[in-house]
Amino acid sequence: MTEESNFFMNINYTVKRSRKRKRTISLQISDKSELVIAAPYFTPIGEINRFVQEKQSWINKTIQRHKEEAIRNKAKEYITGEMFYYLGELFPLETFFEQNERKGLVFWGNRFYLNTADAAETGVSYFVSWYKKKAKQHLRQRVDFFSQEFNLLAKSVKITSAEKRWGSCSADDNLSFSFRLIMAPPDIIDYVIVHELMHIKEKNHSAAFWKLIETAIPEYKAHRRWLLDNNHKFIL
Ligand SMILES: [Zn+2]
Repeated sequence: MTEESNFFMNINYTVKRSRKRKRTISLQISDKSELVIAAPYFTPIGEINRFVQEKQSWINKTIQRHKEEAIRNKAKEYITGEMFYYLGELFPLETFFEQNERKGLVFWGNRFYLNTADAAETGVSYFVSWYKKKAKQHLRQRVDFFSQEFNLLAKSVKITSAEKRWGSCSADDNLSFSFRLIMAPPDIIDYVIVHELMHIKEKNHSAAFWKLIETAIPEYKAHRRWLLDNNHKFIL
């Protein structure tokens, strides 16, 4: 058996050629979320590439799912190379310790930089306070925007550490949002904000309430679904 690496249609893959294999080409996604193609020994590379092209959408979807599952199953370690969500996108972390520089977390050029002597212990609190600060800025601004748009005024807006609830609206119109929301894509954040604002008008999840939501955000059902499916991604 021989092994060779190849790159085609934006996909990196390894070809394992086997003299024992007779006819079919098969593919699998490895533990490292990489594509492995098993092929008969003399299969021309053009034929293998055609096969990859045919299966391209399946391959991309499966690799993406593998990567997400790997993230889900792993507790955060706050080490270099680890990925963190911000506004729906994943960004890599670089951890280092530079005594003479300011301790803490900064986000710069699509990368997180964490300066601390003991990232494993303190990483989580640096991330939580960074996310809270960003959540406060982003959410306040979007709440103001939708407040004007729908003429609904909240008494206050608070950022919480809630793990299960993305947002809530109290009986006297105080809104709360979990800082975790800042890890989600902007349109999802907007949906949660509009949802809580509409509770100022309708304090329940009646048909009338969902009608208001639908008028404001016609695709709201996909957003609800997304929140259910992706909740696990936003645990630190
Ligand atoms: Zn609600």
